[in-house]
Amino acid sequence: MNQARHAYRPFKAFVFILGLILPACAGIGQAVRPAPPFRTWYDKTILVISPHPDDDIIGCGGALALLSGRDNRLLVVYLTAGENGTFDPSLTTDAVRTIRKREAADSYQALGFPNAELLWFDYPDGELDFAPQLEIRRKLVSLIRLRRPDVIFALDPGGKFYRYHYRDHRSAALVSADAIGASMWPLLYPEPGVGAFRVPEVLYFYTAEPTLELQISDVYERKLAALAQHRSQFPPASDQYHPTGPPPHQKDMEQLIVLLTGATNVEHFRKR
Ligand SMILES: [Zn+2]
Repeated sequence: MNQARHAYRPFKAFVFILGLILPACAGIGQAVRPAPPFRTWYDKTILVISPHPDDDIIGCGGALALLSGRDNRLLVVYLTAGENGTFDPSLTTDAVRTIRKREAADSYQALGFPNAELLWFDYPDGELDFAPQLEIRRKLVSLIRLRRPDVIFALDPGGKFYRYHYRDHRSAALVSADAIGASMWPLLYPEPGVGAFRVPEVLYFYTAEPTLELQISDVYERKLAALAQHRSQFPPASDQYHPTGPPPHQKDMEQLIVLLTGATNVEHFRKR
């Protein structure tokens, strides 16, 4: 038996294992940097694309609170109205839709963005996967080109591979990223008198691959106050709804925030 070949085998195995480890280490070592200085931005147009009323507040409510005022303009697109999200069987989808739209408007009052412009695409809640994706993409492209936002917040479809498995969130993430990308290509979905537009800043929330971290401690109470307006989504109103009732418990709101974002006092984003 050739001794050189014996010596070569462990070396080959070592190189092979190194090849497996190094790319993983590169991912772990990726630095998370501070988010842009939102609290000094002024006269900007901000667009948020949210699958349901509440994802906007949970995912980037702190950033939006820091951006409020200073002549910044906020536009929020809800792809669905979350009209099927209740455990109360005595409610109808029409009733929940009405409640959710009122709660979303109230949440921006509480957040300090009373002039936020809320746009409802009204695709069916829980069935966004089956809504016409091309139609949604074209509507978003048209909106982006017309309003030319300085920054877009949307759900993260994943930088390396697709991660989301929660209904509506996966479709929202993909269709938002596709629309943001398509907006810059003039031959895609051309409209008379509307030019292509490359969005300068795209920040994805609900991310598993964060590259930016934003401290929101000084506006966290406002974020919670805004989320509390979505009363119908938390106990006891989510089980048995009454037009008036106590606000949600902080622990229930924070449980959802941590479930979806992993933290309360910071918000994480993946910068495109
Ligand atoms: Zn949602």
